[in-house]
Amino acid sequence: MSSSEQTFIAIKPDGVQRGLIGDIISRFEKRGYKLVASKLVSPSKDHLEKHYEDLKDKPFFPGLVTYMLSGPIFAMVWEGRDACKTGRSILGATNPLASAPGTIRGDYAIDVGRNVCHGSDGVESAKKEIALWFKPEEVQKYKAAQFDWVYEKA
Ligand code: GDP
Ligand code: MG
Repeated sequence: MSSSEQTFIAIKPDGVQRGLIGDIISRFEKRGYKLVASKLVSPSKDHLEKHYEDLKDKPFFPGLVTYMLSGPIFAMVWEGRDACKTGRSILGATNPLASAPGTIRGDYAIDVGRNVCHGSDGVESAKKEIALWFKPEEVQKYKAAQFDWVYEKA
């Protein structure tokens, strides 16, 4: 498991409006993950439909796209060992009522249609999502000063 695995994490419009950006960044930082890209954006309907294209046949798809269009989204790329799977466990279960306390959704959300955050569900989807949301030059490469304090081995 590489310490350079990357995941796409986004704070959805409700999370931005509710003032949760700082806390969500802080949870990933404190865990030891490295921020390599971030921006506050208002993507087009086409962009959001592409992001969620696997769900286009679901009955909640139109509502999901409307929700994602309802305000700015804070998009990020986080890097570190097992970033995709561990990122998902930091977010909590899709349905916040099933999310454990201590997770982002378990602490801040109730309805599945207002679940505050997005995280890639695997390495392959992370690659696709990072390429959709960021230009290559927007994703930084650097060694975090804390690297040797977080990892026993690279
Ligand atoms: P995620 O990977 O945990 O975000 O979950 P999915 O990829 O399955 O779904 C994407 C997003 O669609 C979720 O985060 C929710 O915002 C929304 N969603 C999923 N299932 C439902 C549902 O049953 N009802 C509604 N209203 N929204 C849903
Ligand atoms: Mg998903």
